[in-house]
Amino acid sequence: MRISRRTSGGRGEYEISEVAKSGVTPTALTGRRLILNLGRGVALDTGTSIQPQGGKRRLRRMPGTPIHLHRQFAAALLLPHPVRQDVALGSGAPVVQRNRYAVEHIELGDAVLAGGDRARLDARTAILKNKTYAAEEFSVSDRLAQVQRIWKRASDFPDPIPTLLTEHHDLVKAGGPLPLGAEEVIYELQAAVAEASADMGVLYTQNTDVLPPLLQFLDGIEPEPPVKVEEIEPEEVEIKRRTIRQWRQWAGCRGAASAKFRREVREAYNSICVVCGLRFPKTPLNNTGVDSAHILPWSDYDLDKVSNGICACKLHHWAFDEGLIRIIHKGGKYFVEIPEEVEAGLAGAGFALDALRQHVGEIPAQRLPGDPSKRPHPKFLKLLAEAMD
Ligand SMILES: [Zn+2]
Repeated sequence: MRISRRTSGGRGEYEISEVAKSGVTPTALTGRRLILNLGRGVALDTGTSIQPQGGKRRLRRMPGTPIHLHRQFAAALLLPHPVRQDVALGSGAPVVQRNRYAVEHIELGDAVLAGGDRARLDARTAILKNKTYAAEEFSVSDRLAQVQRIWKRASDFPDPIPTLLTEHHDLVKAGGPLPLGAEEVIYELQAAVAEASADMGVLYTQNTDVLPPLLQFLDGIEPEPPVKVEEIEPEEVEIKRRTIRQWRQWAGCRGAASAKFRREVREAYNSICVVCGLRFPKTPLNNTGVDSAHILPWSDYDLDKVSNGICACKLHHWAFDEGLIRIIHKGGKYFVEIPEEVEAGLAGAGFALDALRQHVGEIPAQRLPGDPSKRPHPKFLKLLAEAMD
């Protein structure tokens, strides 16, 4: 027996089909309130019943049930918010992205009729999909075991993750139907892990599955470096740029080593943005407003040397990482430039390019580290410019 998504007229509906191991048929389940048993002592009263519709057995929310069964199922397992309609599905990897994937099937181990007009369904396997990938499958009890492990170790994570995990645990343990708040907690958890990812030493892109980075943190697993930029065909500019971004994320999340790099770069630059000269140090009122950016985030270079970094405010860090501005070294001096292709590509796009243009030109010496060995290494700047072209 399985619960499946069916698309009819663009909308996604959930149906139950096939005969259960116990011999219970979808027809026998009609009108009953469904208890979804996830195993490992966790069951959800889903506040959902089965109603006949045109020869099908459709899942319907009962009065007072805030969210559909497939959303409760995802939320209980710490998955991001899924969608029902084909048109909302995303493409490419990863499949599991908030509002971009569907719970396609929930395979049931068995279904049994219970007292009080209820029926207990044992969820065994979940199959998820987006436009590109037909199926990504996982065992419900394996996933739940991982979620339970995260719950148990909640206090090991940085704030505010422990509070959010406890809220999630309490909602699931209350037995359902899960409220909208369960999805909100997961969304906040995604934001919190994205924010803390560098300090946690994990790679995480917000809106994707939040469970893997939490497990990686507990297990102290170093994230794998991305594919080498030199191995990408030179004409694949998009992929090259995306990979450079991944390297930047990777270089920034190597635990204590990257925390030390960030601190040393900020100190060498006295918390001054090398592009605009504004100083945003940490004070009792705020965290620092400048970042330490790697020039070359590749693992082949010395990632933790100050000369492989620059200090930049949030705006100029972003512009530097995106290749909208670059720093070059010429005749013993440093300059800020906007690459020609950026000028050409953004002309007429209504882009605030003038805000970047006002800092084009020579970088005054007082914005650079006093110790010449800590200034951006000319070779690193040159290699970056080549890689971004
Ligand atoms: Zn700046």
